[in-house]
Amino acid sequence: MSLSRRSFLSAGAALGAGWSMAGLSGCATAGPQAQAVAPGVTRVKLGAMQVTSLSDGFAVRNVDAAFVRNAPLAAVQAALAEAGLPTDKLEVPFVPLLLDAGKNRVLFDAGNGEFGAPTSGKLLASLAAAGVAPASVTHVVLSHFHGDHINGLRNRAGALVFPNASVHVPAPEWDWWMDDARMAAAPQPMQGAFAACRRVFSPIAQQVQRFQPGVELLPGVRSLAAFGHTPGHTAFTLDGGSQKMLYWGDTTNVAALFVRNPDWSIMFDMDADAARANRHRLAKLVIAEKMLLAGYHLSGSAMGTLAVRGNGYEFTPLRG
Ligand SMILES: [Zn+2]
Repeated sequence: MSLSRRSFLSAGAALGAGWSMAGLSGCATAGPQAQAVAPGVTRVKLGAMQVTSLSDGFAVRNVDAAFVRNAPLAAVQAALAEAGLPTDKLEVPFVPLLLDAGKNRVLFDAGNGEFGAPTSGKLLASLAAAGVAPASVTHVVLSHFHGDHINGLRNRAGALVFPNASVHVPAPEWDWWMDDARMAAAPQPMQGAFAACRRVFSPIAQQVQRFQPGVELLPGVRSLAAFGHTPGHTAFTLDGGSQKMLYWGDTTNVAALFVRNPDWSIMFDMDADAARANRHRLAKLVIAEKMLLAGYHLSGSAMGTLAVRGNGYEFTPLRG
């Protein structure tokens, strides 16, 4: 059960000491200079914008034959070993992103809150370490409605955690999860996910802003349909002028498996073929346009560069 110290250091977004070990390939890349603000908090300037990645901790998952649907377990274990990670358990980090752009302070995905693994729910501590009061967040933008992305919006007592923020969600995601007939027909293992959507959103259903993926949400912030992981899963480009970033949410889960092997399908992809096509499309976009990449389950600072490697890609996190 216990993970090696090395695995914590290499994958542990919750541990500040991890930064120096995070880039397993060991080569620093050219590009914007990141600043390690605190353990789990890294900041980078995108032209006039500032982006801060904020660890919400991590969860540990068993690596078994079900985790990757279309690859033999031995191949999955080999990929983990190649990345210097344990082959039986996997730390999956959670990393929301905060954008400061003019008067707008925008949080992308809201973390697990009080509803995830005991090693998760660290977003508020990371915000405090970044010097950001939750009441100062002006917008919360959600990539999709899985619990690790939405539960942090409302605490167990029922209060909104970002009380002054407008909440922006992809309309197709809302339409799918908030459909009561679909919930009633869903299999038992999915009931919890539907219930979480209702716990978080029902009291603010009239205020939640539903957008069609493709629209510009705010100056410099454009949404991008990236359906597959979920029916309304959405990515976002952040354009600071001299430098752009793509925040791709759960287009991949952990980099060592799904950035390196983009054809592999994690068990959570609801439409595996659409998710796979979007992984390739967005990875090619990031590389062609020399964007920085941020992803909710990526390693280290969860912001970095992407390059082609073999049949897949390699993610190199920025280090402060
Ligand atoms: Zn997720």
